[in-house]
Amino acid sequence: MLDKATIEEMRAYILGEKDRLESELGSFAKENPQAEGGFESKWENLGNSEEDNAVEVAEYINTIGVERELEARLGEMRQALERVDNGTYGVCANCGQDIPPARLKIKPEAIYCIPCSEKLQR
Ligand SMILES: [Zn+2]
Repeated sequence: MLDKATIEEMRAYILGEKDRLESELGSFAKENPQAEGGFESKWENLGNSEEDNAVEVAEYINTIGVERELEARLGEMRQALERVDNGTYGVCANCGQDIPPARLKIKPEAIYCIPCSEKLQR
């Protein structure tokens, strides 16, 4: 088990990251529980000329790409928080060994220890 101080440190870090991602997503997307990932990019209406419409489509496609990335990261942070809350954070989901805090600080969403993650990626 990780010591309490480390867990609290990681919880604070994950919460901060989650807030940051939510506000970043909120700046160009609106929350929609029905949408995949929980957010929906806003469509920006720049005008009605053909050129405006082409730019709108290009920007929307770009925005959706960013949205997907942020949502994926946000999902990882939410899952990490759940593991903090249910006491399984920092324990390898494959072998049950502790994940070294040094690894969690680089990769807070890690669910496997390094040997397992290398083994599973092969
Ligand atoms: Zn492991």
